[in-house]
Amino acid sequence: MKFGGTSVADVERMRRVAAFVKCEADAGHSVVVTVSAMAGETNRLVALCEEAGPPDPALDVRNVEYDAIVASGEQVSSGLVAMILQKMGYRARSWLGWQAPVRTDAAHGKARILEIPAEALGDSIDNGEIAVVAGFQGVAGDGRISTLGRGGSDTTAVAFAAALGAERCDIYTDVDGVYTTDPRISKQARKLDRVSYEEMLEMASLGAKVLQTRSVELAMAYKVPVRVLSSFEPPDAPRAGTLICDEDDIVEKHIVSAVTLSKDEAKISLMSVPDEPGRAAFIFGILADAGINIDMIVQSPSRQAGANISFTMAETELARAVEALTLRKDEIGYVQMQSDRNVVKVSVIGVGMRSHTGVASTMFKSLAEKNINIQNISTSEIKISVLIAADYGELAVRALHQSYGLDRADSAA
Ligand code: ADP
Ligand code: ASP
Ligand code: MG
Repeated sequence: MKFGGTSVADVERMRRVAAFVKCEADAGHSVVVTVSAMAGETNRLVALCEEAGPPDPALDVRNVEYDAIVASGEQVSSGLVAMILQKMGYRARSWLGWQAPVRTDAAHGKARILEIPAEALGDSIDNGEIAVVAGFQGVAGDGRISTLGRGGSDTTAVAFAAALGAERCDIYTDVDGVYTTDPRISKQARKLDRVSYEEMLEMASLGAKVLQTRSVELAMAYKVPVRVLSSFEPPDAPRAGTLICDEDDIVEKHIVSAVTLSKDEAKISLMSVPDEPGRAAFIFGILADAGINIDMIVQSPSRQAGANISFTMAETELARAVEALTLRKDEIGYVQMQSDRNVVKVSVIGVGMRSHTGVASTMFKSLAEKNINIQNISTSEIKISVLIAADYGELAVRALHQSYGLDRADSAA
């Protein structure tokens, strides 16, 4: 059972969490609880780090200290929840990342879990103790504390479920399931009863922050059934939530299941790059060496000379990309570089796209009707993404949600 930040926002809310745990424990289940930091706490800790000196990837040591600092939020919440469970008469204890242990690689700030040799924790559970695990944190090979990237407690929870062979991983949050789009963007959003791992993976990586992408990857690889549920309902009421499961277990298949918005996007355009073999390899080699993840790429003939190449990345990586490309301007041979932070990516996702035509044309028509200009397009078998001006992001999501028949009114009809 995983509880996110809003579910452990204060001690009163933690008592409710304990009530949820009690229901499962009293029903005879062995329970591992994973908790996030109290709402707002990780943001506060990140801001402190930024004040002290923003993490510089070239200075690894800063990132190591960043992890030591931001991991502290989960230490507090896991201790408090264990304490509350003890008060209620249960045998419970907290487990920090290094104690479980959650072994990760050394990519501080966005570490990946390598293994969880959870013998000690398994023994504790077998002895009837409730384990309360601090989410988001692990320990790197050098013994230093690591963290799994924002939203990483989801991944902690799924990783424990996989490591312990759990029957299920229940992710409790502030919404009662996975919706056709972020319910904060559209009141028309509908809860999905089931979502396939594949669709959920695309949704998570394209902006639906309800689950961290890595947690879905792990769930898919280890076949962990994941449920998304609300911790804001009565603990003993029956709950359906959303089940993330194999595509074969889904009867009702939609052409488009969900629409997502990703705001963490930025675009760079290099104008009049010499149009010759090896130029793209050179440019993207520089970016790869700088550790920058590139997403959408478009190359087109320039009206002046050569080609224009534009590509997107996370907004947080823009400054580093601009710096790397400025340093090598003469070797690359571009005439001008433009960068734009005011872009967002809107995507439509659905396994039904594999076998249906016209999905892209519906998307483009719907955006055209709202007079929204498309800057970049990228597709995969089960998704289409477009890059548009940031101001139109939410409008585009609502328009597409309606065009694909996902609005509430349509479903009732
Ligand atoms: P937690 O703190 O519990 O981990 P998060 O804030 O990380 O919670 O994730 C839950 C939020 O994800 C919801 O409040 C909702 O606004 C947002 N969200 C974005 N897309 C979706 C979606 N498709 N379905 C449900 N929630 C979504
Ligand atoms: N507390 C961490 C964060 O805010 C991890 C999580 O909540 O999943 O990103
Ligand atoms: Mg989260």
